[in-house]
Amino acid sequence: MEPIRSVKGTHDILPDESPRWRYIESTVHRIAALYNFLEVRTPVFEETQVFARGVGEYTDIVTKEMYTFLDKGKTSLTLKPELTAPVVRSYIQHHYNQTYPVNKLYYLTPLFRQERPQAGRQRQFHQYGTEILGSEFPEADAETIAFAMQVYEQLGIRSPDSPDQIDLRINSIGDSACRPQYLETLREALAPHKADLCKTCQQRFDENTLRLFDCKNESCQLILEEHAPRITEHLCEDCATHFRSVLSQLDALDIPYTVDHTLVRGLDYYTRTTFEITSDLLGAQDALCGGGRYDLLVEQLGGPPTPAVGFAAGIERLLLALEALDAFPDFTDRLDLFIVTIGDEVRSRAFRILRDLRNRGVSCDTDLLRRSVKAQFREANRQNATYTMVLGENELQAREATIKEMESGEETAVPFEGLAGFFSQP
Ligand code: AMP
Repeated sequence: MEPIRSVKGTHDILPDESPRWRYIESTVHRIAALYNFLEVRTPVFEETQVFARGVGEYTDIVTKEMYTFLDKGKTSLTLKPELTAPVVRSYIQHHYNQTYPVNKLYYLTPLFRQERPQAGRQRQFHQYGTEILGSEFPEADAETIAFAMQVYEQLGIRSPDSPDQIDLRINSIGDSACRPQYLETLREALAPHKADLCKTCQQRFDENTLRLFDCKNESCQLILEEHAPRITEHLCEDCATHFRSVLSQLDALDIPYTVDHTLVRGLDYYTRTTFEITSDLLGAQDALCGGGRYDLLVEQLGGPPTPAVGFAAGIERLLLALEALDAFPDFTDRLDLFIVTIGDEVRSRAFRILRDLRNRGVSCDTDLLRRSVKAQFREANRQNATYTMVLGENELQAREATIKEMESGEETAVPFEGLAGFFSQP
């Protein structure tokens, strides 16, 4: 029978890979605590309408990529493909705004999108990210970007000597006061060239004009470059002031950026600020993270008007970047002690010693295959044990064992009562 394999686009995180994951995860948790973001965990699946209404009917995620199914009660459910809409759903449901006027939230979670798998693009992948709900002010945008940058800096991606490792691009896509007017101007400017655009762009032309900027087709990009007016030159006064203020706060934090007027992001809910961080360390899928302001989403999902800003970062991409840089520390785990047993009678005693030592914080193990003494020592070496201890009938009778430091070969006789003390020595 053919062995069953993991589903295309999904990956096991193997035992020798998980320390890298834990390293990234603990860095995110630590920096979130420094920034005073609180963690929120939402269910793996939601009612489909959370995403249909929250992410936008015309987005790639909703039209092509969701894992949607009917449960036994015929409710349409979807595995979460992104986390902003579920966090907003949770915010509204639990009235977070009644406890605090501004909520700084973060998450770290697997997500599911039915995309074409390739390097850095999977069907189950992981993201961490933040959402600040309740502040309309540019400080919240800057705080979001500062957090995103700090994780990379902390992990060693952004270094002052090689700024190319990371690139922050930022834009403003206006709000309901100025965007409709801009889109009209954009359509007018592009109308004479509509027939030369690719099929997808022709479809997007009326429904979702801003997304024309997302097209990777070179001839479409050329048309846009030559004929599309820049949105940053068509912002209303409030949006322009907001954008200028975000940029000046980034300047104050010494965060370098490039204003990219084509950065519109693939989701419908963005207003004003959009940003993306890319890295030359990655291949074609070079986006490490992306985010922006979404002042209308909470209301769209049935909540009170609540300005908000957030970002989401891919963990798989971050792993690839750190691997390219060789920036992971050495994770070789050392076991404090491996107990080598001689004979059948001592085994249960060995497990009592293990239990007592583990209770005192000593990492220790013994053989589970009833192997020879020689094979057990080989195993102790494989496990990178700092010490070994041989336990046989003689040791049980003497209530004392010899502990050997594997590297130096130095041996110390230790009475059973003194074992825990031996390992807690400084
Ligand atoms: P998005 O939610 O599409 O804005 O994506 C935010 C970040 O998540 C991207 O910049 C990537 O780092 C990561 N990402 C998005 N989709 C995938 C995927 N299918 N596989 C791996 N990482 C992804």
